[in-house]
Amino acid sequence: MKKILIGTHNKGKFKEIAYLISKKYKKISPISLRIKSPKETGKTFISNSKLKARYFSKYVDYPVISDDSGLCIEALNNKPGIYSARLAKKNGGFFKAMKLILKKLNGKKNRKATFVCSLSLKESSSKRIISAIGKIKGKISKKISGKKGFGYDPIFIPSKKKITFGQMNKMKKIKMDHRYIAFKNLRKKIKI
Ligand code: IMP
Repeated sequence: MKKILIGTHNKGKFKEIAYLISKKYKKISPISLRIKSPKETGKTFISNSKLKARYFSKYVDYPVISDDSGLCIEALNNKPGIYSARLAKKNGGFFKAMKLILKKLNGKKNRKATFVCSLSLKESSSKRIISAIGKIKGKISKKISGKKGFGYDPIFIPSKKKITFGQMNKMKKIKMDHRYIAFKNLRKKIKI
């Protein structure tokens, strides 16, 4: 069976990406290979996802797909953006980071937000990395709601919906989110 390394230590992301990739691939996690994460030194989602694909592919001789994603909040100058994971780490976890975001948005009319994902694919035989972006627009909820997702899911309400990603059925979320859209765009460029 063909293998593919899904270059993320985030279990929520791993599950979503594994679901999107064809069943003919055996999906390998860097955790099972005891490979650590690289430093995210890029300034954009694309540069960070490329950096991760390049880094993880040094360890395996099969394709690598990597993700860089985050939540961009309009009233906070599109922050935390590429710093989404670091904001949670700095503040003692996602629950505290979400509380901080809600506090910062308190009294603000503009609660518009966008989840962004860049996926990058590197075949072991080539130096070329193919990337694609996916975005989903929505708004930040007034409170933390739902236990179904991961990360910032409990405060993000996608456009035209009334519930947060955290309250949504998992499959429904997987089939509409920024990762799904990025994957669709990636498949326009390369067969996977
Ligand atoms: P990074 O790509 O490793 O820098 O991490 C991205 C951060 O954004 C992580 O903290 C994720 O939990 C968060 N994030 C990315 N995608 C999603 C999502 O679909 N739902 C909730 N949080 C997400």
